[in-house]
Amino acid sequence: MPRYYVNRTAQQNGDHEVHKEGCYWLTLVVSKKDLGIHSSCESAVREAKKSYIQSNGCVHCSKECHTT
Ligand SMILES: [Zn+2]
Repeated sequence: MPRYYVNRTAQQNGDHEVHKEGCYWLTLVVSKKDLGIHSSCESAVREAKKSYIQSNGCVHCSKECHTT
């Protein structure tokens, strides 16, 4: 199962993006929080929301958890 991370820096719209390990966009994140191992992005986003209520799945690596 993959490890997930949340970007500590919010996007312009206030979203904190949740990324799966290996995502290209994760390499551009300056500061990230380790969310641990998750079977799906749903539980990863749930974990991220404990720190950042406005967390959202990355459109590239966690498309099924991305909401607009
Ligand atoms: Zn991503």
